[in-house]
Amino acid sequence: MIEVRNKKDCCGCYACYNICPKECITMKIDNEGFWYPNIDKNECINCNLCEKVCPIINPVKRVDSKKIAYASMNKDEQVRMKSSSGGIFSILAEYIIKNNGVVYGAGFDEDFNIKHKRILYSTDLDLLRGSKYVQSSIGDIYKQVKNDLENNNPVLFTGTPCQVEGLRSYLRKEYVNLITMDFICHGVPSPLVWEKYLKKMKKSKQENIKNIYFRNKDIGWKLFSLKIIFDKRIYSNDLNNDLFMKGFLQDVYLRPSCYNCKFKKINRISDITVADFWGIENILPKMDDDKGTSLIVIHSEKGKQLFDKLSETMIINEVDLNEAIKYNSSMIRSVKYNEKRNSFFAELNSGKELTDLIRIYTKISFEKRVKNKIKSIIKRLIR
Ligand SMILES: Cc1cc2nc3c(=O)[nH]c(=O)nc-3n(C[C@H](O)[C@H](O)[C@H](O)COP(=O)(O)OP(=O)(O)OC[C@H]3O[C@@H](n4cnc5c(N)ncnc54)[C@H](O)[C@@H]3O)c2cc1C
Ligand code: SF4
Ligand code: SF4
Ligand code: SF4
Repeated sequence: MIEVRNKKDCCGCYACYNICPKECITMKIDNEGFWYPNIDKNECINCNLCEKVCPIINPVKRVDSKKIAYASMNKDEQVRMKSSSGGIFSILAEYIIKNNGVVYGAGFDEDFNIKHKRILYSTDLDLLRGSKYVQSSIGDIYKQVKNDLENNNPVLFTGTPCQVEGLRSYLRKEYVNLITMDFICHGVPSPLVWEKYLKKMKKSKQENIKNIYFRNKDIGWKLFSLKIIFDKRIYSNDLNNDLFMKGFLQDVYLRPSCYNCKFKKINRISDITVADFWGIENILPKMDDDKGTSLIVIHSEKGKQLFDKLSETMIINEVDLNEAIKYNSSMIRSVKYNEKRNSFFAELNSGKELTDLIRIYTKISFEKRVKNKIKSIIKRLIR
């Protein structure tokens, strides 16, 4: 029976929850807003399936494969502008749906919490398009994926690397009709912090929220903004000035497992990895128009066949993967633990106001600013 002794050893993928034959696992939310399995010991039959499918305890076996990497953009400019980077997710999703398939990914619920959803129509793809920088809840989605696969539907499952590994571990066999797409993952912020942030925004504007875009490109892809559409007004602030994004990017409130991530590696279990192609201006300047370029890494023969079939719909150029990840270390390395994280949550739980706290906890000292500046000059010189 699974027992999470140290929170950093559970990524919250829901594989244990989905596999339990007695349905005696509930996912309990802790005081930081992250979910962990909780077992009703009276119902448990000690079958140990939950431990077997946990991708942290039993990582899925992977075969070494040749990696091919591309810089890539969706030729449909409107779709690219609505997407976080080059709009490649939309190309894969449209293809699966045209072939009577099903697409799974993260979307908002009616209260703007983030949840995985099952999509059957291309008109609903807007619900999944665009990154949401909060942990997405899987619920019983792996069971639904299995059902679709057993019914021979083509399935595209998209999610964080740990969710893709959680699904593959839960399925415990290969399906020819399954394509998985993960991304280079910085880490996932706390759903509790997100909920409190939205509450504060609604209170200050005294209006309801109609829609949210984490990666609005009105002022460019590299300096993207968080945009919130209220009934009458619009809030928009770039990644360096919006408080929620500042706390996220300074790693104040990521899930504990994200500081010691077991899924950041080059050799992945997914068919395709997508990412923002940071550094494209240095590697392939002709592919940089500041509207979004994706880095694509192909891991499997299935992924390669699909990508080749769809390459007509993209502008692509093959690149050196090692060169590309110099600008995107989250492919292989976890972020450093933020030493102020525990006191941030302690103060949050003692009732302190969220935005005041983020302001305090993201203030960079003069010494640190000088250090960062020197570091970035040295980095530029040795590149
Ligand atoms: C939490 C998070 C952290 C990321 N960190 C990095 C990073 O460090 N470096 C980097 O280069 N790229 C990162 N990305 C990926 C990047 O933001 C783009 O999602 C990616 O480049 C794909 O863009 P696209 O234009 O092809 O498609 P888009 O339409 O933008 O992609 C949307 C896809 O992302 C999925 N998705 C959105 N939010 C979530 C979520 N919360 N959980 C699971 N799946 C989600 C959707 O299901 C959909 O499949 C991150 C994304 C997320 C969600
Ligand atoms: S040991 Fe089996 S029955 Fe018990 S919680 Fe795990 S999966 Fe469920
Ligand atoms: S299967 Fe996933 S949710 Fe369950 S304990 Fe393991 S990492 Fe946590
Ligand atoms: S950083 Fe690792 S553990 Fe955290 S969400 Fe991403 S893949 Fe999962």
